[in-house]
Amino acid sequence: MQCRWPTGFSCPACGHSAHCLLPSNPRMTFQCSAGHRQTSLIAGSLFQESNLPLTIWFLAIYLVSQAKTRPSALALKRHLGVSNPTAWLIHHKLMQAMAKREDLYRLSGAVQIDDVFRGGERRGGKAGRGSENKIPFVAAVSVDDEGHPGRIKLTPVPGFTSPCCTVLSDGLACFGCVSAASCLHIPIVAGRRKPGTGGVR
Ligand SMILES: [Zn+2]
Repeated sequence: MQCRWPTGFSCPACGHSAHCLLPSNPRMTFQCSAGHRQTSLIAGSLFQESNLPLTIWFLAIYLVSQAKTRPSALALKRHLGVSNPTAWLIHHKLMQAMAKREDLYRLSGAVQIDDVFRGGERRGGKAGRGSENKIPFVAAVSVDDEGHPGRIKLTPVPGFTSPCCTVLSDGLACFGCVSAASCLHIPIVAGRRKPGTGGVR
């Protein structure tokens, strides 16, 4: 309740705060006094249409977000003490929500990027960056004024050694960002205009 309406109930249809709580409904349904529209506390959220206690959901979110390796549906089942289908549903919904969240936000402000490799090394294979079994990523993290990390984006790339394509432009400064997208940027400046900051990489 505090999370959804920190300053008190507000009808999603008309914005009125006057309401009554329907006593018989276990899902905490509010009825707007103006338009009589009924709204559940969890309507429009991940937990909509679920009869599981929210505490189970919160525990599942904690387990998924705190684990270094993502727990399987089977692991969730054991931790939460729920049935197989329920564990699968929770797992599926959390993964969906996390994937959706990726597209909702863009990094802004100060962003630090670095190369990252994910995956294990095979026995007898090359170690470190040269390992064939590792997937290269560009990791980008937005940081606040104190340098604390905020959001992170991980984008898989073919590799860090060769550009994925060659881009020719007229050298306008904004095309410098092409280099950041792992592309070789060749500014071709006609006339007297000076090339922008995005030079050949
Ligand atoms: Zn209303």
